Amino acid sequence: TYVITQNCCKDASCVSVCPVDCIRPSDSSSSGNGPQMLFIDPDTCIDCGACYDECPVDAIHADSDLPPELEPFLELNAEYFRRN
Ligand code: SF4
Repeated sequence: TYVITQNCCKDASCVSVCPVDCIRPSDSSSSGNGPQMLFIDPDTCIDCGACYDECPVDAIHADSDLPPELEPFLELNAEYFRRN
């Protein structure tokens, strides 16, 4: 699956290119005190890479290509969809 990380600019250019519509904005209550951002539903993502190509700030990574410091975002993306 693909994962959205801390550089997320929230301009949502990725949302419209996703063929399975699995990129969703977090609301402030679900992200606690953290910044609002976009998340990818790992159960729905088909690994097409369209969002990766579209992201203007390179905030999207394949889970297999996630730098160690960004690994917490794998769980943050998944957790959001378990709760919502
Ligand atoms: Fe959507 Fe494709 Fe990105 Fe997965 S890799 S979130 S299916 S655009």
